Amino acid sequence: MNVIPVGNGFASQRRQTPAGKKMCYVYVPPWDKYDLPLKAGFDKYRIYRSGVWHEAMHLRYTPQDLWQWRDPLAQNVFNIIEDRRIEDLGVEYWQGYVPERLYSHAYGWALRPEVDKIADKRARIAEAFLQRMVVGKVKGKLDKAEADLVEQTAKYVERKLKEINEFKEDYRKSAELRVVTDEVIKRLDLRDPNAPPDQNPFPNAGAKSPWEATFRPDFKPGKTPEQVEEEMDKFFKEKEEEAKDEPSDEKKDPNEITKQDIKAAREGSAEVKSEYQQATQTRPTDPAIASWIPVVSHASIQTYRDEKFIRDMDAQLRKWQTGYETIVGKTGARLSIPDYIRHQDEPFATRLKRSVMGKKMLIIADFSGSMGSRQEDYKKALISAIEVLNKVGSNIAFFGFGSDPAQGEIFFRVKTFEEPKWTVRHSSKVAALEADFGSTPLGSAYRHLSTYITRHKPDITVTMTDGEPDNVSDVMQQISQLKKHTRMVAFGMGDGPDDAQDMAKKLKSLGYHKSVAVPDLRTLPPQLVKLMVPT
Ligand SMILES: [Zn+2]
Repeated sequence: MNVIPVGNGFASQRRQTPAGKKMCYVYVPPWDKYDLPLKAGFDKYRIYRSGVWHEAMHLRYTPQDLWQWRDPLAQNVFNIIEDRRIEDLGVEYWQGYVPERLYSHAYGWALRPEVDKIADKRARIAEAFLQRMVVGKVKGKLDKAEADLVEQTAKYVERKLKEINEFKEDYRKSAELRVVTDEVIKRLDLRDPNAPPDQNPFPNAGAKSPWEATFRPDFKPGKTPEQVEEEMDKFFKEKEEEAKDEPSDEKKDPNEITKQDIKAAREGSAEVKSEYQQATQTRPTDPAIASWIPVVSHASIQTYRDEKFIRDMDAQLRKWQTGYETIVGKTGARLSIPDYIRHQDEPFATRLKRSVMGKKMLIIADFSGSMGSRQEDYKKALISAIEVLNKVGSNIAFFGFGSDPAQGEIFFRVKTFEEPKWTVRHSSKVAALEADFGSTPLGSAYRHLSTYITRHKPDITVTMTDGEPDNVSDVMQQISQLKKHTRMVAFGMGDGPDDAQDMAKKLKSLGYHKSVAVPDLRTLPPQLVKLMVPT
């Protein structure tokens, strides 16, 4: 799943890449534009997080043919039913989510209008049905006939949903959900036969889901954060009265709540608290790397963790850690004349125990358009290799240029040396990157990093590229400058042996301490280890 900050509210989409890979996207409003009538900070974070969860549940459970409807009224009614259904399935799957779901319901309920203030009958009944269906209670008073109608219709839907969730095939679920949607429109008499077909009684037209519209920053209820908090408190008090003291033994009903759930809903569950703490631990940006933009998109790393690659690289590394090897460098135990003749800036030979434990390693990734055809393999190589290096305690920094789906073409940073450890979050940012930067500004990349490299003196700086920068002489000059402060190496993957050979020549001519090009991902691990194990 990819999380991409664009637009106003939350949305999701299933898409296939040109290569036929199935991708899931969650679009989220950019955090700093997400203004809610809530205390900024933790409270807002919880609603934001719930938005992501809700969309993820659509991706998991909503049948594909129900994502787009031709009829806006049917789409709105269906989405109310579906919003309830997918959230129920979500907490059945992960019961720990109950308190956070309750919190988002409390917030939504606080923002929704009181039904008795809605003059139009259809709009009033539509709103009451929405509240009853999603949150489980109606705000304000209806007369008895209307209240009974809404309650009976909701009960009918709840009965049908139980049946539908038992179906195995998506097409049966879809067919029945369509029947239920039509039936609700009929029972509640929501369609005005005299109105134009695109008009419907939900006050938040424009959004596919009138419930989701509640969480958009442009949903303006005209309430202050204090008023919203007061109403949420009222919601929790009323829910508390229905709550059980202990969870019941039999299979848990997703809508069953306990006193403990309410307590956690008021305060925030343990996971969300620690997550928020982590997310807000930010430092001021180091001016030396200010031109490098943090990657904000995330994608699933599962397809990029290559088990074989990880095993191979692990084995190669272990070999190096126990063995000794003569290496040549700028300084060393003895002057080696043959090596002096071969590469004049590394004339000394030393026998050293090779290890990457605790070494500082800077990775620079070229995600330019020319890398596009191999980008899946490059991401596999990076994510798998870093996992191994991280395990042996290398301190990794990761920079590059490419496309972040949320921000377009950028000089990006995924992790700095100052951040303590490489985590899954870093890997998922690498997974989200796309190789379609319009040019290959490798020389500029080196120049923008020179202060940082001079200061940190990484044990090794690894560039992933195909050896075709925009400005070859500039790149050569930057490499020779940086070689004073770090060991500069590079690797690439060609399309087969001939291409790899050609690439190896190009890389070599740029003047790295060492470089390698391999014909495919399979042959990379031993070469990469030889390249990376620092002197
Ligand atoms: Zn929804």
